[in-house]
Amino acid sequence: MTVRLYLKKSRKKRLEHGHPWVYQSEVEGVEGTLTPGCTVEIVNHQGVFLARGYANPQSQIIARVLTYSPSEAVDENLFFTRIRAAWEYRQQFLQDTGACRAIYGEADFLPGLIVDKYNDILVVQILSYGMEVRKDWILQALKDVLQPRGIYLRNDVPVRRLEGLSLEADVWFGDVPDEVEILENGLRIVVNVREGQKTGYFFDQRDNRAAIAPLMRCGANQQGARVLECFCHTGGFTVHALHYGAAHVTAVDISEPAIDVARRNAALNGFNNVEFVVANAFDYLREAERNGQRYDVVILDPPAFAKSRRALEGAIRGYKEINLRGMKLLRDGGFLVTASCSYHMLPDLFQETLLDAALDAHKILRLVHWSGAGKDHPEIAGVPEGHYLKFAIFQVHSRG
Ligand code: SAH
Repeated sequence: MTVRLYLKKSRKKRLEHGHPWVYQSEVEGVEGTLTPGCTVEIVNHQGVFLARGYANPQSQIIARVLTYSPSEAVDENLFFTRIRAAWEYRQQFLQDTGACRAIYGEADFLPGLIVDKYNDILVVQILSYGMEVRKDWILQALKDVLQPRGIYLRNDVPVRRLEGLSLEADVWFGDVPDEVEILENGLRIVVNVREGQKTGYFFDQRDNRAAIAPLMRCGANQQGARVLECFCHTGGFTVHALHYGAAHVTAVDISEPAIDVARRNAALNGFNNVEFVVANAFDYLREAERNGQRYDVVILDPPAFAKSRRALEGAIRGYKEINLRGMKLLRDGGFLVTASCSYHMLPDLFQETLLDAALDAHKILRLVHWSGAGKDHPEIAGVPEGHYLKFAIFQVHSRG
């Protein structure tokens, strides 16, 4: 029997705008019995079909959409079709599909499923009950479309608890090494696919890492830039900076395992004009300022300081502090490369915070580049949460 969710008349038309989540508070009534992961038809208050998806009565997000077509069933074929479409999209828009985000959940019409591709190894996150109970179909479709040698499940993410799912990380299929070497913009990068942060590597900044190229040579005789990168993780921006001609990079991260891999990534690409530091970036920046250090370029790509709206006040202070200090460490006319991956830090607020930092630091900012995540992180227009990454390059001029 078809289970139906009736939505309230008074709700906002988020679903019609492409937002695939239905919250408990939007539901008027249920026809049939909801069980975790069951297929459900989502209808408006008059019973008119809106979408079909899966439900989870234990979650605040009571249902997520898989199809807007009344004639499309939620079956194995839907998963194959979606996964194939996601892959075709990458092939159409990425220059190199060897390593990329192959499936980006909601934005690929597969809510709750993330797949990162590291050559022939896939790292998968299953973030919802509806996806968990359809794992066999997902596995089959991934094998058919992407032909991996091995798949690793990184289901050790706390959001799974909100769905009533346990946390685990294990081989799902085939043969999975501890590490994979990928190519990004022609550079060699080692990724720890079993124990790295999140799914191992942050693909969303791929194009932004390439965007720093023009900053790495400065002055009339084009000498190499002196660069400070804070929150370097496994050295993505650092190896790019060196490749594009930086004279020297100092790269800081609080995680020793991340710095170990960053060190190897620099060596793998033949660079030794780099110093790696395991430290809290807040302390490092304060210390560098006290010592009167100066750089041509400062790169700041911190973790999400605001994981919720409640954490926003503290996050704003954090973003302001690191950016203010970063600006002060630049020579006149140097470049600040700065990012925020907190959705709650909306673009306008991020810009305001940077402006506020510039005011206190007595700097004038000239915008060189503004962007978001790369094309393997598509965005659905009606889903603001998908627009999480802000990335900017400013030239920083002294005032007063
Ligand atoms: N720029 C990186 C991604 C950064 S992810 C890239 O391009 O791959 C954020 C990083 O910040 C993580 O590696 C994490 O270990 C580090 N981190 C978190 N808090 C920190 C702190 N207080 N000081 C320094 N590093 C920190």
